[in-house]
Amino acid sequence: MGRGREKKGMLEGFRVLTLTYRVEDLPPEQRERLVELFKRYRAIASLYFWAKRLGLREGVEQALERAKEELPSYWRKALDDESPLYLFSEVEEMARPRKHVLKLPLTEALQVKQRDEKCTTGAYIDRKESKLVVRLGDGERIELPIPRRALRWLRDKEREVAPLKVSKTVRIQWRPERAQALKVQIILRVQRPRPAQPDPRSSLLVYVDVNSSYGIAAIFASYEEGYAKIHETLKLRPPNQTRRLREAAKRLRAAAYGSKPNVNYALARLSKKFDASGWVKAAAARIFKRALRRAKGRSVWMNFDAPDSETVKGSRLQRTLLSIKRVAENLANWYGVRAEFRCFPSRKCPLCGGRLKELRTKRARVMQCECGFFEDRDYVPFYHWVKELGLPLPEWPIRALKLPAEAEPNDPEARAG
Ligand SMILES: [Zn+2]
Repeated sequence: MGRGREKKGMLEGFRVLTLTYRVEDLPPEQRERLVELFKRYRAIASLYFWAKRLGLREGVEQALERAKEELPSYWRKALDDESPLYLFSEVEEMARPRKHVLKLPLTEALQVKQRDEKCTTGAYIDRKESKLVVRLGDGERIELPIPRRALRWLRDKEREVAPLKVSKTVRIQWRPERAQALKVQIILRVQRPRPAQPDPRSSLLVYVDVNSSYGIAAIFASYEEGYAKIHETLKLRPPNQTRRLREAAKRLRAAAYGSKPNVNYALARLSKKFDASGWVKAAAARIFKRALRRAKGRSVWMNFDAPDSETVKGSRLQRTLLSIKRVAENLANWYGVRAEFRCFPSRKCPLCGGRLKELRTKRARVMQCECGFFEDRDYVPFYHWVKELGLPLPEWPIRALKLPAEAEPNDPEARAG
């Protein structure tokens, strides 16, 4: 998982629903059974991993033998290299297989129970009772309530890709030494053929510029009777980090002076912690949603312009921002949208090819050319893309934009170009 797997020209997209529970809320016998299964899996998975890593065939065989004896069949898929749920395909590159060894892995197909149907899979959702039932072997199982909202989300996701069928699995993660939280993930997967190259003249075109220091800018456009029409622009910025850290420091000071220490320590932790990858996922999902709504049935062609994360220095948040590439690839596979990941210049004039000069105003970074062209820096690459698609350029600037007064060209004729 993590990347869209590719099989015989098929693309795979996935969506994940994460639910958390408190282990102590489980009835004691379920809790015990879970701990037992967890310990068994952990021992077997580490044997498997190290034997594989060291190239010891007998170790691998022993691990599989033990898995067969000690783990229910639906928990064994993680160790089955024929299964799409196999977790150890990158054993060589795994520096620390914590995720794969210390957490209870995927279970087999998740069924959604229809009326009085009997479910034979490792897990199933009972819609009527709003609960998820996960089998732990030997007739034991855990039952976890699923909020209605989550059930609706699952149903909406399935509708999004209909008539394609969604396959579902469950993963249970629990690191008892870390926290008493049981994390349950429901994973939806869909496979579809790679979409054909659409005609840029009849597609909704979406250009997404990802800049590690500024955030995400998106342009929604289409070709209409001889010109490139801009429907909408969108700028998304991660919350300001300096402000969050300042807020956290204030809370810590208050706590140290004895003012509601519990509350203030908790708030400080919250302020410091910003879920950067969550922000990126939400931002990407928002762009896809808008694109599909605007497309009204037309095909969608997107380009994500994001520098390579290896070449970018910066804070973790900034690097996380660049993970949008992976996130977008997955969403494109999920929705069946054509997405490319090409970079276009932001310093080259799309009209004359001249070098653009950067001028900073309070609200934007403006790029300006001697030929008279000027545009918000975030939008310049879009012109080069449109040009490459063989479409006429849009009227510039895309959004009302004022040049800083002192930077106004002296020669009035220059503006006319
Ligand atoms: Zn120019």
